[in-house]
Amino acid sequence: MAAKELRVAIVGAGISGLTTAIALRQRGIGATVFERADQLREVGAAVALAANATRLLDRLGLGDPLSAVSAEASELIFRSWLDGRRISAHPVGEVYRNRFGAPFYGVHRGDLLDILANAWGRELVHVGHNLTGLREARKAIVLEFEDGTEFPSDLVVGADGIHSTVRRYVTTEGGPVYTCTSGFRGLVPLAAVPLLPDPQALQFWMGPGAHLVHYAICDGRVNFLAVLDGPQKWSAGANAAPAAPDELAARFADWHPAVRQLVNAVPQGPCWALLSQPPLRLWSRGQAVLIGDAAHAMLPHHGQGANQAIEDAVVLAECLASVSIGGHREAFDRYQRLRRTRTRAIQRSSWDTSPLLHLPDGPAAIARDMDLNRLVERFGWIHAYDAQKMHKPDMTRILNDHLHRPDAK
Ligand code: FAD
Repeated sequence: MAAKELRVAIVGAGISGLTTAIALRQRGIGATVFERADQLREVGAAVALAANATRLLDRLGLGDPLSAVSAEASELIFRSWLDGRRISAHPVGEVYRNRFGAPFYGVHRGDLLDILANAWGRELVHVGHNLTGLREARKAIVLEFEDGTEFPSDLVVGADGIHSTVRRYVTTEGGPVYTCTSGFRGLVPLAAVPLLPDPQALQFWMGPGAHLVHYAICDGRVNFLAVLDGPQKWSAGANAAPAAPDELAARFADWHPAVRQLVNAVPQGPCWALLSQPPLRLWSRGQAVLIGDAAHAMLPHHGQGANQAIEDAVVLAECLASVSIGGHREAFDRYQRLRRTRTRAIQRSSWDTSPLLHLPDGPAAIARDMDLNRLVERFGWIHAYDAQKMHKPDMTRILNDHLHRPDAK
């Protein structure tokens, strides 16, 4: 039987699930996508897509629709919370494209999801299917849904996000942990923030116990994420919770006027817990495998969660396409080898970045500011990465294996 006859079920029609479906189809493998929501819709604000993901989306044929709904940041700027001073600035736009070979975009999450859903085919997503369990049956893995229906498949891809049900089948390792930081998100019309300097830039405002990051999207709005230390406790399971009505305004009350104008320009949204998944030892079990937030949810400080989900999707599709049917163990092992070290490194680096962005004024903040140019340069490894090139077989190893065959002359 040819690999293209594999039956792959994907649980979750978010960024990772839909990208996997498209990448599999590009390689001749069919998939069935299940989504628990009754319709495809994206809550929340925007997402920043870096070159390591935009180059892959372009190869999936999505470059043009993506560029039509995206804004390219002009600069990356770090500012002081109090006087708005530019501490460090780096060109993005064309300079970034030339350096990394693909653009850096700000895009509304709804637009990104639309592009992915339209490319896959909205009608092909089985909405209203809440996966409650998985079980092994003869030669198949059976998906069990809340409404009592079942679906047998050869393989299952768990693209079901941070509170993944598939992860509970794959591993007994613990789920995501609360990082004692939380965030508020908002989308603000540019016209409402005349005080904001360099509104087309990706900017970090750093201050004691908090930071604010924002970038423009293409519909004339600015997306912001305000990250705060605390609260110290968060009830397990909930992603977001209502906050005191003026919580956000109060936390930024003594910040630069542009920051105050930004966070006060729209009604305060819910407070989001910032969670991180401790690195998993195993990403697959039997016929089920994890991708995206289900495998490695991370803090947003490198803006890489969705980008890593896109890398996962393409690498998993390539690994599956390179084995014949029945070879999925080899494909899953290779996928995990290719993805685990990189995603761990980014998880770790995002974790380490948080306190750096929240330093109180004083010697440590001064040292950070003096070193910021070098720090930013160091993160080039995240953006320069080409997940597909890394997937190609390691020719040195193949040559060595060949030379050291017992029968090699
Ligand atoms: P999700 O987007 O969570 O999608 C999972 C899908 O599975 C959902 O549609 C869900 O309904 C469905 N599902 C769940 N359970 C079931 C079930 N049992 N049965 C069927 N379907 C199910 N990343 C970036 O790259 N750049 C950024 O700028 C950025 N900013 C962020 C800001 C914040 C505040 C946060 C919290 C995250 C940010 N991220 C960012 C991270 C990014 O949002 C995630 O990494 C990304 O959405 C993960 O995609 P996913 O498809 O794996 O999971």
